[in-house]
Amino acid sequence: MAYDDDNVFARILRGEIGAEKVYEDEHVLAFNDIAHVTPVHVLVIPKGRYESLSEFSAKASDAEMAAIFRAIGVIARETGIEADGYRVVANCGAHGGQEVPHFHLHVMGGRQLGGLKRQAGG
Ligand code: AMP
Repeated sequence: MAYDDDNVFARILRGEIGAEKVYEDEHVLAFNDIAHVTPVHVLVIPKGRYESLSEFSAKASDAEMAAIFRAIGVIARETGIEADGYRVVANCGAHGGQEVPHFHLHVMGGRQLGGLKRQAGG
């Protein structure tokens, strides 16, 4: 499927829609999820046009991949969730429940999170 340049994260990257920026570097933008489900809920996205984790893992450069994971570490420290722990989630495709077709990672923390089994429906 072709990348949809009108998806909401592409529009945030172009500055057409506002977002509460948490972190930015050459390859990565991170901002607060508009409908946060945990006290800290940050979305970390590559600046490149990748629809999903599958596409990112196949096509992104080593620098882009490294930047995403380095950014998560910085964000966890700077938002204060590093010490108590946090969860990183990537929803991929239809069965994964991905709603926005631009690869993103959810960084969630700030409270005790439920078990993954229950969250995934058993
Ligand atoms: P996913 O289901 O993994 O595709 O998650 C998409 C996430 O994007 C959801 O948690 C939404 O709340 C979030 N979201 C959608 N629009 C915006 C927006 N304009 N700013 C920040 N987060 C958004």
